Amino acid sequence: MNPWIAKATILIASALMIVIRAPHGQRSRRVKVVTNRKGTMETVLLTLAWLGFLVPLIWIASPAFSFAEYPLRASPLIAGIACLAIGLGFFHRSHADLGSNWSVTLEVREQHRLITDGIYRRIRHPMYTALLLYSIGQALVIPNWVAGQSYLIAFGILFAFRVRAEERMMIDQFGDEYVKYAARTKRLVPGVW
Ligand code: SAH
Repeated sequence: MNPWIAKATILIASALMIVIRAPHGQRSRRVKVVTNRKGTMETVLLTLAWLGFLVPLIWIASPAFSFAEYPLRASPLIAGIACLAIGLGFFHRSHADLGSNWSVTLEVREQHRLITDGIYRRIRHPMYTALLLYSIGQALVIPNWVAGQSYLIAFGILFAFRVRAEERMMIDQFGDEYVKYAARTKRLVPGVW
C-alpha cells in the first residue's frame, strides 16, 4: 500500500490532537497554579514526550528515517486507525471532564476540584489511556521502525516515571478523598489495572 495513506492519517490525527488540547491549554493558563512539582525529571520527561510526538511529523516531511521503512499492510493500518480514533475520543472526553483542573505537568490549580465522574468514574488516568491508545495506533499505522515506535517509547517512559508522583501529589492535595477514589478505581483499564 502507498505509505502516503499512513502519512495523511498521522497528519490528521496529530492535527486533531493539537486542536482538542488547544482550548483547554488556553483556559487552564488563566487559572493560577498553587502547587508546582515540575522538577528536572518532569522537564526531561516532557521534552522526551514532545520529541516522541515530533518524530512522526519529521517522518512525514523528510526522508530522514527512510532506512527504517517497511511495507504498509492493510490490517495493521485499519487496527491502528481504530486505536487512533478511540484514543482521540478518550483524549477529548478526559479534557472535557477535567476542565480547568488540567495541566500539562504536575500542578494543582486554584480551586482545584477532584474529578471522579464521567470518564474518571472507573479509571484515574483516562488521558494516559488515551495517549497509550494513540501511541499504539501510531506504531501500527506508521510503516517505519523509528517513527512508528517513537511516541510509544517516549510516552511509556513518561507514564512509568510520572504516575506515582502524580498520585502522591493528589493524595497530598485531597487526602482521604483521593485514597478512597483510588481504592474504587483502576489506573488505565477499567476493572483490570
Ligand atoms: N492523570 C490524569 C490527568 C492527566 S493531566 C489522566 O490521565 O486523565 C495531569 C494533571 O491533572 C495533574 O497535574 C493534576 O493536577 C490533574 N489531575 C489528575 N487527576 C485528576 C482528577 N481526578 N481530578 C482533578 N485533577 C486531576
